[in-house]
Amino acid sequence: MLTVNEARERILSQFTASTTESIPLIDAASRVLAVDISANDDYPPFDNSAVDGFALRTEDTSASSSTLSVVADIPAGSAPTVTLRAGQAARIMTGAQIPQGADCVIPVEDTNFKNRSAGTVPPSMITFSQQMQAGKNIRTRGMDIRAGEIVIKQGRILKPQDLGLLATLGYTDVSVYKKARVALLSSGDELLELGAPLEPGKIRDSNSYALAAAILSADAEVIRLGVAKDTRASVTDLLDKAAQEHADLILSSAGVSVGAFDFIKEVIEANGSMDFWKVNMRPGKPLAFGSYRGIPFIGLPGNPVSAFVGFEVFVRPTLERLSGKLDGGRQTVRVRCVEEITSDGRESYLRATLHTQEGIRLATLTGHQGSGNLLSLVQADALLIIPAGVKCVPAGSEVDAILL
Ligand code: AMP
Ligand code: MG
Repeated sequence: MLTVNEARERILSQFTASTTESIPLIDAASRVLAVDISANDDYPPFDNSAVDGFALRTEDTSASSSTLSVVADIPAGSAPTVTLRAGQAARIMTGAQIPQGADCVIPVEDTNFKNRSAGTVPPSMITFSQQMQAGKNIRTRGMDIRAGEIVIKQGRILKPQDLGLLATLGYTDVSVYKKARVALLSSGDELLELGAPLEPGKIRDSNSYALAAAILSADAEVIRLGVAKDTRASVTDLLDKAAQEHADLILSSAGVSVGAFDFIKEVIEANGSMDFWKVNMRPGKPLAFGSYRGIPFIGLPGNPVSAFVGFEVFVRPTLERLSGKLDGGRQTVRVRCVEEITSDGRESYLRATLHTQEGIRLATLTGHQGSGNLLSLVQADALLIIPAGVKCVPAGSEVDAILL
């Protein structure tokens, strides 16, 4: 039987993020960038003032008093035509282009002209006592970003500030990886659609709700196909529907163990191939991977906790790979077990609550670990990973845990 790692590697080797699309920048938040972004131009695009003040020539200034005549008024957004000569200054606003001849800006509050309220006309002369340095209060062209420089790398999950930078650089559209599309089905004659009254021998289909939400949480799209009956025809029908959707992945739950009514494996093999259908783990040993009509297929176990664990261990990493993200996914941390934990030697994923004491995360198992017990998963903060081959973890020892 395959180990968890072998199974995951076999699955991941079949996926790459390849399809990209160009979308309007306004829709690009949280999407994954498919290309390196480089600047077409310098930023700032022109030398401009960092303050409201007066642009002038350093050679006209001294530590004792200087008086200059104000020959122009340069608001933000204008293109100055004036060239400053000896003894001349221009009033200038923050962000406005520095005029020819000027090499520094004195803030308005450092001059005798303190009035900066809206609508004020510039004075004809200003006086100040300050030796200015060239470049003072000037944001020079290209000081933030040089044309040609790579500013955001492929694989980045775009943040609001990234969108701001892309807009700064004039990107109206941006190339991102297409969201993975997952066709999701449940299987089993015992399953009722949510909303239908309970009947003898039946339970509600919970997996398709938990798994649909899990798919969405991995930033993929879900196509819900409903529940297949435990017949060859019904399973074939739903898998064919999944294939028609041209999904990136078909994900099913249940029907992959060796029960008399478990048709999934047989139907997959009739129109595709099965790579493996068992993994040495607990919960979740019956876990199938193959392809159906050319589309990769993962068959999760039916028990709700097994399906969830199978998703976290195999499907989430697959969706991360398909999404092109460089990082992301679930965080794994070290935790200390409060009690002794016994295991059967399979790689085990156990539900636990965590609380921190003196900087150490302490783990306590939640309730019974039956693979149908969703409540103990709901109560858990983490899945403890007990490695393969380990039958007893003494109280006080540390293990890895996937944070939920
Ligand atoms: P199976 O793999 O078909 O033998 O199913 C294993 C167990 O999981 C059975 O107890 C099923 O009733 C249960 N199960 C299967 N599918 C679902 C589902 N969609 N929601 C809740 N329980 C399920
Ligand atoms: Mg079944």
